[in-house]
Amino acid sequence: MFTANEKRYDNMTYRRVGKSGLKLPALSLGLWHNFGDVDPLANQRDLLCYAFDQGITHFDLANNYGPPAGSAEKNFGRILREELGSYRDELIISSKAGYYMWPGPYGEWGSKKNLIASCDQSLQRMGLDYVDIFYHHRPDPETPMVETAHALDLLVRQGKALYVGVSNYSAEQTAEMTALLKESKTPFIIHQPRYNMLDRWIEDGLTDVLTEEGLGAIVFSPLAQGLLTDRYLHGIPEDSRAHRADSPFLSEENVQETLTTVKALHQVAVNRGQTLAEMALAWNLRQPTIASVLIGASRVSQLADNLKALNHLDFSSEELKTIDDILTK
Ligand code: NDP
Repeated sequence: MFTANEKRYDNMTYRRVGKSGLKLPALSLGLWHNFGDVDPLANQRDLLCYAFDQGITHFDLANNYGPPAGSAEKNFGRILREELGSYRDELIISSKAGYYMWPGPYGEWGSKKNLIASCDQSLQRMGLDYVDIFYHHRPDPETPMVETAHALDLLVRQGKALYVGVSNYSAEQTAEMTALLKESKTPFIIHQPRYNMLDRWIEDGLTDVLTEEGLGAIVFSPLAQGLLTDRYLHGIPEDSRAHRADSPFLSEENVQETLTTVKALHQVAVNRGQTLAEMALAWNLRQPTIASVLIGASRVSQLADNLKALNHLDFSSEELKTIDDILTK
């Protein structure tokens, strides 16, 4: 059993999620990649224990993370049991349902049947009585939103989730879900959208809705899956996500298309005395609605680099303008 560093809370900052009682670490760790059965378990253990030792108290999962789907939750459950179990009350663990998980009409989207069954499966795989946050992973164009809202509310009333959230919902869909869950007084506190320097869609309406409704955001792919780091500055390494092409939204073509922009951003980061990854994370955290930035990592050294972002979060107005100019070129 792992013994955590006594100083684990000394350097991390914790930010309130909207107007809720929950605080999340400025950086959280996601298990979408690098935690499947195809990935070495020892590295998974190192990543989770190192993260916790640095004050990263939040681990984000989903039913379908792997590959194969479900294996990230199973592996996480094992590491929790073997290493981190005695720290359960210091952890915020989330899962989600909505993407394809099992065959037939109930294995994806937003029906009550899908959400309740999927949450039960996730709890079983992780060996948990409850998750701290349960998300609807993507909006369902067919199921009435009131049914999805009812399913999220039921999970809270059953004690299977403490808080609920949505992911990938537009500003309008978020406002609709907020109205439904206000009626039932369900603790709907958080939205999980993609946000990074190369994808700023949330600035176009969503952050306003979140602020008005007292919700917080935890943003995913803040490094654009590695594009906003020094990973691809000198070619495409064989062990990188872009080379393995095992991820939607990231290919070798994306690397080529963004390289000029990334090199210019890299220079701004160097001038600030940071790596590009550190600057990209700090840039996300300048948004007050963002409670936490949800990173991925394939090795401990990346986590160590990313944590250094917290040492320099401020931007001058000139730096912000330079970054905006690079991004709009
Ligand atoms: P990031 O944008 O942080 O990308 C992580 C990848 O970037 C790493 O695997 C690594 O790639 C590379 N990287 C990270 N740090 C560094 C560094 N310091 N230097 C060089 N390279 C680095 O996030 P993800 O796309 O992984 O998403 C994070 C989490 O967000 C997921 O695990 C998941 O929990 C959540 N998510 C949610 C979604 C949703 O629909 N709700 C969708 C997608 C993600 P490499 O493997 O090449 O080393």
